[in-house]
Amino acid sequence: VSKNIIICGHGGKDPGAGANGINERDFIRKELAPRIKKYGGGDIEIFDMSKNCYQETQKGRGIQTLKGKNVIEFHLDAADPTAKGGHIIIAKGLSADAMDQRLADVLKKHSGWRNGEAFDLRDNLLNLNTAKRLGINYRLVEVCYITNPNEVAYLKKNVDQIAKDFAEAITGKVQAATTPGTYRIYTGTFDTDAKAEAAAIKIAELGFKAFFKDKRAWTGTFSTREAAEKARVTITAEYGYNPKIRKESA
Ligand SMILES: [Zn+2]
Repeated sequence: VSKNIIICGHGGKDPGAGANGINERDFIRKELAPRIKKYGGGDIEIFDMSKNCYQETQKGRGIQTLKGKNVIEFHLDAADPTAKGGHIIIAKGLSADAMDQRLADVLKKHSGWRNGEAFDLRDNLLNLNTAKRLGINYRLVEVCYITNPNEVAYLKKNVDQIAKDFAEAITGKVQAATTPGTYRIYTGTFDTDAKAEAAAIKIAELGFKAFFKDKRAWTGTFSTREAAEKARVTITAEYGYNPKIRKESA
């Protein structure tokens, strides 16, 4: 059981807004939410997609069942074809928390914010009001405008990256980028091999394999560029030495 739960807006016989070949219910259930779940793994669950959470809340078994969870409800906004940007609805009287801020960053990166504002404070939505009354951490994300053809084209093309960014915003965990390969770190040139050897010994004290050659200190190999970069930063912070990364030929 996860602490974070996604609600897919609309559902059942209610497709929500429809335009530009998609509707809210189906796009969020089939395209967006499963990808967010894929990237979020065990840290994210999805509210029963066969249900319409709004109707469930009306019956007392929607939001009411989510006590103790962080709830993120997803929708696509609708207005005239030129309206653009996404926004996040939070309850009037509350302020955006760290997850809200991270979600706002995702919107800013992809669609921008509606009228330049990330947050809309409201008190006239059932799930929002119910969550506030019960002390449940809740926000409703309007990802972008389904009525804007450019935004729908962008959304369809970039849904995987958008979902990954949402997953990271929800979990607060960044999916580490990995650039595989064989990488080695080498220092600048010393006056003598003896000084290079001394530097290699110092680098080894940080837990890296190290040796000297041609008046430079060298490390053993790293299997990703990111690991090598982390080590380079560590060596620089400890000793300087002007270390650089070299990609070894395969
Ligand atoms: Zn909607």
